[in-house]
Amino acid sequence: MVNDTKWSLTTRLVHEGERGARTAGTPTSMPIYATATYIHPSAQELDQAFSDGGLVYGRYGNPTVNGFEAAVALLEGGVGAVAFGSGMAALHAAILAAGTPRGATQPSFQHVLAARDMYGTTRTLLHDFFGAQGITTEFVDMSDMEAVRQSFAARQTDVVVLEPISNPLLKLVDLPALIGLCREAGARLVVDNTLPTPLMLRPLTLGADFAVHSATKYLGGHGDVIGGVVVARSRLPLDNVRAYSKLLGAVLGPFDARLLARGVKTLSLRFRQQCASAAVVASWLNEQPQVARVYYPGLPCHPQHDLAQQLFGDCGGAMIAFDLRPAEQKAVFRFMDALELFLPATSLGDIYSLVTYPVIASHRDLTPEQRAGLGIGDGLLRLSIGIEDAADLIADLGAALAKSQLQ
Ligand code: PLP
Repeated sequence: MVNDTKWSLTTRLVHEGERGARTAGTPTSMPIYATATYIHPSAQELDQAFSDGGLVYGRYGNPTVNGFEAAVALLEGGVGAVAFGSGMAALHAAILAAGTPRGATQPSFQHVLAARDMYGTTRTLLHDFFGAQGITTEFVDMSDMEAVRQSFAARQTDVVVLEPISNPLLKLVDLPALIGLCREAGARLVVDNTLPTPLMLRPLTLGADFAVHSATKYLGGHGDVIGGVVVARSRLPLDNVRAYSKLLGAVLGPFDARLLARGVKTLSLRFRQQCASAAVVASWLNEQPQVARVYYPGLPCHPQHDLAQQLFGDCGGAMIAFDLRPAEQKAVFRFMDALELFLPATSLGDIYSLVTYPVIASHRDLTPEQRAGLGIGDGLLRLSIGIEDAADLIADLGAALAKSQLQ
């Protein structure tokens, strides 16, 4: 409470109720620290906080955000994490940090090797944004290790960027083999681990340098927040990520951090259920006459099923893609419009089951020939399995498949 005799009511109302003494009880859940600044008891202690990297300003750190970062660092098995306002901001900072030589504070890299099947905006970030700064990127099919070997042999690679499970076709990268090639080439590896989640794959424990998430997806899990996070395997690269976060300022806010921290607590429960339901749905789809092909790493018909078992054990993940028969946009639209439980929302990893049609969404800017070159036909649909009852999901899909065939 401010001194009530010295100051006017107007002045007292500005300060009353703020910076109260700590209560004797510790809050069970991390409070949302909605503050842009922090004060210290003396100027000398403030000076000390500046030099120690203590709490002085919200862009440099916030206890609520730090709580989320600590949970994700634990989840990925890294030395620490830095949270961002979106997955794209996290990828931007991770690529900059990967391109920063050890001990340096500025990025200095020339060439990136990236997976061909990657989230479209990540491709654009590499090709257009970093490309405009003279950094070249070669996109290669990373499910083909021979092609990857040839790319490494052809020129010096500084940074490698990939998604271990591609989107939407769910092709896999042999991550241990790729990490071996990165080591030989002295390249830093950034793994976008959004789709597998650390419950299926922990890239840092295998030797990758950075694991990145669009926390918007499985970590948050409820489709109500946009966020991102970078986890580093070692200290100096982590310091670089923090420095770029402070400089570029795409930080996560404390309200969103609290939602994400809450999401992480139930990740294993949600993801276990989502993967179990996905396995059942994928097997069922595989038997339907209106389905020409199912893409799911947990099915023996997946071309890399052995690698899937090696990397993920019995877990096939919670994403499924399939080709509708006939492979026609009209039939796909009829199918999508008939669904009642699967939402046509452009995301993945939510508690809600979602359906996307890459032809009109992630891959709409490509020509049909370019899409065909990537294996994305006019009948391809992608499902993100939520936490509803698997039997209900199958009933919804069954009814929609039947309607897709009506002329
Ligand atoms: N990485 C993957 C695999 C994604 O699917 C997405 C978004 O869909 C992103 C990164 C970008 O994340 P955000 O939308 O949180 O910026």
